[in-house]
Amino acid sequence: MTTLRLILGDQLNPCHSWFASTDPDVVHVMMEIRQETDYVRHHAQKILAIFAAMRDFAAQLKAQGHRVRYVAIDDASNRQSLTGNLDALIVHYGAAAVEYQAPDEWRLDRILADWAKGLPIPCRMADSEHFYTARGEAAAFFGARRQWRQETFYRQLRRKHRVLLDDDGEPVGGRWNFDADNRQRWPGDPPEPIDPRPAHDHSKLWQTIQKASVDSFGQPQADALRWPRNRAEALDLLQAFVEHALPHFGAYQDAMNARARRLFHSLLSFALNVKMLNPREAVDAAVAAWRSGRAPLPAVEGFARQILGWREYVRGVYWAQMPDYRNCNALAHRLPLPRWFWDGDTGMQCLAHAIGQSLEDAYAHHIQRLMVIGNFGLIAGLSPQALHEWYLGVYIDAFEWVELPNTLGMSQFADGGLLGSKPYAGSAAYIGRMSDYCAGCRYQPKQRVGPDACPFNALYWDFFQRHRERLAANPRLALVYRQLDTLPETERAAIAARAAALQANLDAL
Ligand code: FAD
Ligand code: SF4
Repeated sequence: MTTLRLILGDQLNPCHSWFASTDPDVVHVMMEIRQETDYVRHHAQKILAIFAAMRDFAAQLKAQGHRVRYVAIDDASNRQSLTGNLDALIVHYGAAAVEYQAPDEWRLDRILADWAKGLPIPCRMADSEHFYTARGEAAAFFGARRQWRQETFYRQLRRKHRVLLDDDGEPVGGRWNFDADNRQRWPGDPPEPIDPRPAHDHSKLWQTIQKASVDSFGQPQADALRWPRNRAEALDLLQAFVEHALPHFGAYQDAMNARARRLFHSLLSFALNVKMLNPREAVDAAVAAWRSGRAPLPAVEGFARQILGWREYVRGVYWAQMPDYRNCNALAHRLPLPRWFWDGDTGMQCLAHAIGQSLEDAYAHHIQRLMVIGNFGLIAGLSPQALHEWYLGVYIDAFEWVELPNTLGMSQFADGGLLGSKPYAGSAAYIGRMSDYCAGCRYQPKQRVGPDACPFNALYWDFFQRHRERLAANPRLALVYRQLDTLPETERAAIAARAAALQANLDAL
């Protein structure tokens, strides 16, 4: 009696208990389908990297003696939908049962759960054996509290999983959080570590994808794609990160530089999100580096917090808030994305770099995503849903469970402050402090109004003026409102006029 086991494209975890032994009665099903390539317009590298990793995973399973049915994008029998293919394969194999691992995306979870209800054979959902927390763990932890805070959840997870704790259960180094030590501008030294990832030639696969007329944007870099293809490459990347970048990860975590795209970030999000790598492995490797004196505590704590804290926390927000979350728009922002989101062709150097790099590499690091692109979207009043679609399409690591709360919650404050305590809004002063972008820009970072003034400045102050009613009572914004109130009325009016003119013609910036 055959059992079909479905493996989704972001479930490439060879350590899952499903693969501990081979069973001739189990057929593992993997599929490349238009339903998944087309639900949003994706960056070419994202489609390529996922298909390449899926193919590699299927080949490894086969080599270990597992039965695998791989439905390629151009297979004549491919019905191009998850349940369409599953229905056909149940008949083909005379399957007596179906199993699947818990999807991370609400959309797929619903599709599979609804489909399973109508099946005449048993269908079971297994754990994906990846995360530290269960889907509903954050919701249970915060209960009915109106405001959730990452820091509280993170500390509880540090205690529960005994990460960076001393024998008394207290945080090592006497502090839970080393953020204050981690906000330095990068002076150009130490040098950015070399990119350790091997380049793969996926030109043939790219031709197949194109022949199947899959729509995409961005540079495919098909003949030299650098995203890890399998777990062995992901482990190599982790090791290289720990050795060469982690020691400086903390200090320059918020820094940006026109000549250094990655700085000391890990580039591990793709490998983590498709589950080649387990989050515990990444956190444990960093902690081991601190214990053996190879990395300082603020860097290691900062890295552990991104994964054990933020990654698990945003997932908890996602599962607690979907499906309504994706429509939230607390600040009623509605402007469409300017045209330069699709080519990076803007005179604003910070955005030209962050967006241009995203289109070339399918990657930008956190501060570029949050404090340049997201910040502009927030203060200019772009539609959070349009931004969500852009972020979900453009980044190599973008899967809705992690992208949506980051975009709508952290970056756009569209959930009204559930996920984060204040909007991440910044003027040119912030960007100038943390990067070298302003030096090569046609706009003046110190001016608020006038044709050459940096657009971030007028938009920043106007954002706080426009949303005074909602934001002024927030104690974390008291200083901003005090500064705003010291500006003469004439200057506030000039700022409002400049902001309105910018918003009316964003394409021209
Ligand atoms: P590093 O800086 O080296 O961090 C290490 C790891 O920590 C990352 O690989 C990631 O797994 C985790 N991490 C760090 N910050 C976050 C965070 N805020 N939320 C969840 N995990 C985090 N991350 C995604 O994985 N997918 C997304 O689609 C995504 N969209 C984002 C959209 C916006 C608007 C913002 C502000 C952030 C987004 N992030 C997303 C979070 C973060 O920017 C990326 O995880 C990070 O830039 C990936 O690069 P890295 O692996 O070099 O990360
Ligand atoms: Fe960006 Fe303004 Fe600096 Fe130009 S001057 S790089 S637009 S912050």
